[in-house]
Amino acid sequence: MVFYKLFLRVFLIIVFSSVFACKSQNEQKKTKEPQKIQIENQTENQKVAQEQKPDLSIMKNYVLGKFDYKKHSDFSRVPKKLASKNIYLRKEVLKAFTEMANQAKKEGVILKVISGTRNFAHQKRIWNYKWNDKYKKTPRDKRALKILEYSSMPCTSRHHWGTDMDINNLENSYFAKGKGKKEYDWLVKNAKNYGFYQVYTSKANGRTGYNEEKWHWSYVPLSSVYLKFYNKHITHKDISGFQGSEFASKIDMIKNYVNGINPDILEY
Ligand SMILES: [Zn+2]
Repeated sequence: MVFYKLFLRVFLIIVFSSVFACKSQNEQKKTKEPQKIQIENQTENQKVAQEQKPDLSIMKNYVLGKFDYKKHSDFSRVPKKLASKNIYLRKEVLKAFTEMANQAKKEGVILKVISGTRNFAHQKRIWNYKWNDKYKKTPRDKRALKILEYSSMPCTSRHHWGTDMDINNLENSYFAKGKGKKEYDWLVKNAKNYGFYQVYTSKANGRTGYNEEKWHWSYVPLSSVYLKFYNKHITHKDISGFQGSEFASKIDMIKNYVNGINPDILEY
């Protein structure tokens, strides 16, 4: 299992960084022609910088949810028997979920995805509705925190990545007894074997951010790669384009919410 995880991580990092391949090609080209005068090297460096820029912005837009997952070749629609509606996930996530759901079914537990990938525009609709309507009377400085009890700020949702999903029900009380408890207990015991971790665990041990969500699970072999990229390249300036976005830096969204997750995921 350890070897499998290690191999998968290395593989994903290679795939993830393949978009930067043009950089190393240019570097090789440079080393073959050391006699080039400085001015030419400057031009070459500028060219490399220009070629790198769009790749980085593509990946930044990806983790910010600013892309069309329905047209993205790495995404698939979740089959109807495994989903409550029209839902998309990354292909490798869907494969792992299908294996997990099949095994769960053999043991009498039915797992269904009730929410998967949501892009920036979708998250913005949820956020702006709560900002302009549902919590309209809450003072502006407290409104973002109120919404953040259960809803992500656009640009910061793990649902943007195609790696995270909500399973079976959106109430913690559902998972506290009977059928729901059986489903949750099965996930706690088995989900890790398929790469899935509960993201928003109990806050009793000092976890910050969103309240506990027993329904939100992440395919960590892949989402951990995106989280590392996010922490390296995204700043609060990138979190913009919706009502109240100026509160992102005041709340320290990246530290308290994006990284306010199950410590097992942070250490993965
Ligand atoms: Zn969720």
